[in-house]
Amino acid sequence: MTTTSFTKKTLGLETGEPAVTPPPTPPTPNTAFAKKPKLPGRKSRKRDIPEGLWTKCPKCATMVFDKELDENLKVCSQCQHHFPIGARERIHSLVETCTFEEMDAEMTSVDVLNFTGVASYLSKLEDYQKSTGLKDAVITGIGKIGEHRVGLGVMDFTFLGGSMGSVVGEKLTRLIEKATEKALPVVIISTSGGARMYEGMFSLMQMAKTSAALAYHAQRRLPYVSILVNPDYAGVMASYASLGDLILAEPKAMIGFAGPRVIKDTTQAELPPGFQTSEFLLDHGLIDSIVPRREMKERLVKYLDYFAAGKKNGA
Ligand SMILES: [Zn+2]
Repeated sequence: MTTTSFTKKTLGLETGEPAVTPPPTPPTPNTAFAKKPKLPGRKSRKRDIPEGLWTKCPKCATMVFDKELDENLKVCSQCQHHFPIGARERIHSLVETCTFEEMDAEMTSVDVLNFTGVASYLSKLEDYQKSTGLKDAVITGIGKIGEHRVGLGVMDFTFLGGSMGSVVGEKLTRLIEKATEKALPVVIISTSGGARMYEGMFSLMQMAKTSAALAYHAQRRLPYVSILVNPDYAGVMASYASLGDLILAEPKAMIGFAGPRVIKDTTQAELPPGFQTSEFLLDHGLIDSIVPRREMKERLVKYLDYFAAGKKNGA
């Protein structure tokens, strides 16, 4: 009995192994290998961002390696010149990984005025949507900065000059209202040429709408941090961008209502040196602090900690 069972076992091992194990195993490693080749796919994505190219810094004329520039949040390592940076890259640099929940991502404008010019407004919008990958000039959502959940809105100048139309106004208003409802601080990073002329009065109405939403937010004693980024002008600067409890700006950003040339022509006066730069506005009390881009997250966390501590103490 024992001898037969021994022979059966050895036989079973020899014949059983190839009979049982091969069927389930080959398909699984096959699929695993089929998935792995997707890794080079990531490399090909990198190829979209042209590698081995250099960008000339407009301030110090140094040729900066693009990859280095990306790693440095688009700041020149030689002279600290702040290059423009996309809204998504900015959000990525500020919020904790995977905590950002975007709001109203699909909202797009309607051609209310039936605007006719060189190109129709809608075809212009379509072109910008294709070239930037954005639906409009702002991305809004709730995310975590340090330990704090905040309502975060980030504008992108590459989309029609960061102009504020009904979508920018509506998305920001909804963000502020959501933050008010959930008792969260609001952080808005703005860069804009002003109200969007293609939507006429509807663009101008956004100034009042966003400001009113911020007034309700302030009534609940919730903090609002406005961050001004080069360039920041006109309707945006004259509404929500200048209403922050705390107003921060990036170094050497151009900030104002009308541009310096218009002011010079109108007033016929020589403008002071450094007029409309963030440094000038810090000296004159409009801005609370100038924060380099690479320190922005750390500083924001500190300020939000401070606001949260004040709230706990009932201040
Ligand atoms: Zn430079």
